[in-house]
Amino acid sequence: MGEFEFIEGIKRMFAAVGDPAAIQGIGDDCAVMPLGDGRSLVFTADMLLEGTHFLCEAATARQIGRKSLAVNLSDIAAMGARPVATLLSLGLPAGRTSGWAEEFMTGYHELSQQFGVALAGGDTTRSRDRVAVNVTAIGIADDACLKRRSDARPGDMICVTGRLGDSTAGLREVLAGNYASPLALIHHDPQPHIVQGQWLGQQADVHAMIDLSDGLASDLRHVLVASGVGAEVDLECIPTDHSLEDALAGGEDYKLLFTAAPDVVERYRREVGEIYPVGRIVEGAPRIVWLRNGMPVEGDWRGFVHF
Ligand code: ADP
Ligand code: MG
Repeated sequence: MGEFEFIEGIKRMFAAVGDPAAIQGIGDDCAVMPLGDGRSLVFTADMLLEGTHFLCEAATARQIGRKSLAVNLSDIAAMGARPVATLLSLGLPAGRTSGWAEEFMTGYHELSQQFGVALAGGDTTRSRDRVAVNVTAIGIADDACLKRRSDARPGDMICVTGRLGDSTAGLREVLAGNYASPLALIHHDPQPHIVQGQWLGQQADVHAMIDLSDGLASDLRHVLVASGVGAEVDLECIPTDHSLEDALAGGEDYKLLFTAAPDVVERYRREVGEIYPVGRIVEGAPRIVWLRNGMPVEGDWRGFVHF
C-alpha cells in the first residue's frame, strides 16, 4: 500500500467520527477549525526523522531546528494563514541531550522569532539511537482568506512563488559530502513563504493553494484530485536552474503553488515579485498534460512519496 492510499484509508475510517462542522480534517495542508467569528484556526503536523529527513553529520543542529519549524510554517502559508504557535516534541538519543539539543533550540527559536510564532508546549523523551522531531503548528486566518486544494477552476493560471529544484540539487551535494555548498545550504535551510501565503490569501482571485513539499508533479496532482479538474503545464515556463526531474519531482522546495484568474497574475507579479505562471487548469480528469511550446510531450514525473 502506498503512502497516499494509506492516508485515504485513514480518512475513510474516520469520516463518521467527530463533528464535521467543528473541524474539517484530512486532505489539505492544514485541518481547519472554524471559530464561529469569521475566522478559523488551522493545524498541521510534520515529523522529521534522523536518517530519513536529515543526517546529523551533514546538517548542524541549528539548521535542523530551523527546518523542523520551516516545513510546518510552509503548510500554514499554503492555507493563506498566519502562524501563531507550535508544539514541539523531541525524541533524543544519548549524546544529543545537551549541546546538540541546545543548538537545535537556537535554530528553532530564530525562525520562531522571525515569524512571531510562540512555542506553546510539546514533549521531550529519550529515543534509543536516533533523533525524532515532531512539530504541530497552529495558524489563524479570516475564513474569506483561507485557500484550499479543492478550489481550482478551469481557466485558472497555475503559478509558483519561486524557482524549483534547488533543494534536490542541494541534497545531491549533501550526499556527495559537500555539506556547506550554497545549494546544500538551501536544502538545509528552506525559507517558508509565509509573507507570500498571507498576501495571496487576501486575494479573492486566488482560488487553490498548496505548498511544494513533494515536487510539483505530485503536489499539483493533489490540487487536481481535490478540485476535480485537469492541468496543462508548459515545461519551458518551469523556473529552474536544474533538470526538469529536479524541478518537478524533487521536492522540498517549500515554495507555494496557487491557481488564480489569469487576468490578475501580471499585477501580482508587479506587487509580489517572484511569481511564475507555469500552466493552466482545464476541465476534465485530474491529470497533468505536459506541453513544450504548446505540443504535448511524454513525461512521467511523479514526485516524492514516502512509501
Ligand atoms: P503535507 O505534505 O501538506 O504535509 P501530506 O501529504 O503529509 O501533506 O498529508 C496529506 C494529508 O493527510 C494532510 O491533510 C495530513 O494532515 C493527512 N495525514 C497524513 N498522515 C496522517 C496520519 N497518519 N493520520 C491522519 N492524517 C494524516
Ligand atoms: Mg503541504
